[in-house]
Amino acid sequence: MLRLGWRIRQLRGILAVSSGISVLIIAIGATGLFQPLEWFVFDRLLRFRASDGSDPRFLIVTIDENDLQALKEWPISDGNMARVLQQIQIHRPRVIGIDIYRDLPVGNGQTELNDAFQTIPNVIGVEKLIGKHSVPPAPELGRQGKVGLADLVPDQDGRIRRGLLAIKCNKEQQLCNDNEHQQIKYGLGTKLALIYLEQQQIYPEVSEKGHLKLGKAVFRRFSTRDGGYATADDSSTQILINYPAGETFFDTVTISQVLKGEVAAHQIQDRIILIGATAVSLNDLIYTPMSLEERLPGVFIHAHIASQLIGSALDGRTILHGASPWVKYLWIVLATNLGVVIVHGLIHQGGVYRQKNLFSLVLVMPCVWAGVTGVVYGFFQSGLWLPLAAPLLSISMASVLLLLLQNQQLHGLASLDGLTSIANRRSFDNYLQNCIYHQEKLALVLCDVDYFKRYNDTYGHQAGDKCLQSIAKALEQGVRHSDFVARYGGEEFVIVLPNTEISMVYTVLERIQNQITKLEIAHKASDVSDHVTLSFGVVTVGSLKGMSAISAKAVIEWADHALYQAKELGRNQISATIFPHDVLL
Ligand code: GH3
Ligand code: MG
Ligand code: MG
Repeated sequence: MLRLGWRIRQLRGILAVSSGISVLIIAIGATGLFQPLEWFVFDRLLRFRASDGSDPRFLIVTIDENDLQALKEWPISDGNMARVLQQIQIHRPRVIGIDIYRDLPVGNGQTELNDAFQTIPNVIGVEKLIGKHSVPPAPELGRQGKVGLADLVPDQDGRIRRGLLAIKCNKEQQLCNDNEHQQIKYGLGTKLALIYLEQQQIYPEVSEKGHLKLGKAVFRRFSTRDGGYATADDSSTQILINYPAGETFFDTVTISQVLKGEVAAHQIQDRIILIGATAVSLNDLIYTPMSLEERLPGVFIHAHIASQLIGSALDGRTILHGASPWVKYLWIVLATNLGVVIVHGLIHQGGVYRQKNLFSLVLVMPCVWAGVTGVVYGFFQSGLWLPLAAPLLSISMASVLLLLLQNQQLHGLASLDGLTSIANRRSFDNYLQNCIYHQEKLALVLCDVDYFKRYNDTYGHQAGDKCLQSIAKALEQGVRHSDFVARYGGEEFVIVLPNTEISMVYTVLERIQNQITKLEIAHKASDVSDHVTLSFGVVTVGSLKGMSAISAKAVIEWADHALYQAKELGRNQISATIFPHDVLL
């Protein structure tokens, strides 16, 4: 029962430390300090997944370096763009997205392009709203409202992890024109997905909190502190992009192939066609979590957003959500507490009473790290991104701190006297040995309570214990900082006064006698006083420099002689002697 109580107390201490550390880590995390670490983890979690195959609903028409060489123009002229659209339209795509700004007329063929915009249904162009410079849509498409946002929302490290679904126009933000106030503007990917799904009788619903619902899929709106984020801008409606694993997720053809009519009907029919620049020289390339060095053309990112929306709405594809702030705080606290309890359990298998070094942590910690990483990986697979860096850091810090505290506590237990809480005999032995080793001049005093047996007999053993505690305190208060007091055993105490002349020893001991007198502990059975008194045996040891080593035992014996003399002479007094070096030589 006692053992259980002790264990609960111990567990409470561990949980207090680990909860404290986890709260500290949460507070530090709120500044965004761990964000880069969490992104690092996020990117790897995304990459370490089995290939997702491909999305047959899409065809991307790329404009690469060879196309530019062949066409010998950039931007693509209105005439060529009109031809591309007509070529595609022959095979009845469901929707066409042009991820190229067409706000200004380019070259010849303006009329043809305008005609194409008017006659071909479901052609969506782009405009740019966020940032210093906005770009308007192609006038004809703008008039018809067939426009999606080309804007992307990069993290501070330049990578695109979030997809912009929509922006609500707002006068204060000055993103849109005055007449568009409160209007919702969709990202290109969203716009394409919505048109595609319309034909499946699936229409968007927006919940109170701005969460987008498509069929059964609910895309919880990303907020500033979700998952590993701490400081992201969430003013627009965004989701985390659940980039699929595998390099060739989308079919592609080049614009030259389209112009030459080399694209088969089945590649286009009923599909979403996205047209965008992939040529390196055009620089519409962006870093994503999927590759460290390689950048992805912007058009692919819009395709991924559209693919995610449609895949989740129709096929139940996993939607990736960052854990909301309270969920992740709870996770950090729980993981830390559990992790630390396990670390503690593992390193103390041999019993808590033995000192442990940090090396034992190095052995145990990776196992716990692996466990926590496994949990995070598991949740990630099901679409919930929990922070990993924060709990790992928290567990490590709390474990190290606990180990240091416990070792310090153990050290205290091993070196202090249980009853009086002053140094014990073992500490005294070490201390005296050390003084002698350094050949220090010193004085050693043995103090013995007078008639203590009678005190116990008169007032009881418990009162005796209390008396010893009071005396220990008085001794500690009486000596100087440089002196050392210990309980030698029973009702005997010992004081070591390094580098001290005999006159100073008397000063210190008289001060102690005064302190003891002030305690006024009645002792009616004593023959020498009404109160408890002490006898002192002093031995002074001169400098040992150049002398052969003396033994601690011999020094103590001489102090004991002096103490005996003090007792013989009537107790409650000081008797001093000089340690005779020559005897030992
Ligand atoms: P003297 O003046 O000659 O020193 O006589 P004394 O009675 O003090 O000496 P003695 O050695 O005969 O008795 C010491 C007593 O101290 C006996 C023992 O019961 C008591 N004692 C030793 N340790 C403790 C303790 O931890 N608590 C209490 N209450 N008594 C203790
Ligand atoms: Mg004694
Ligand atoms: Mg005694």
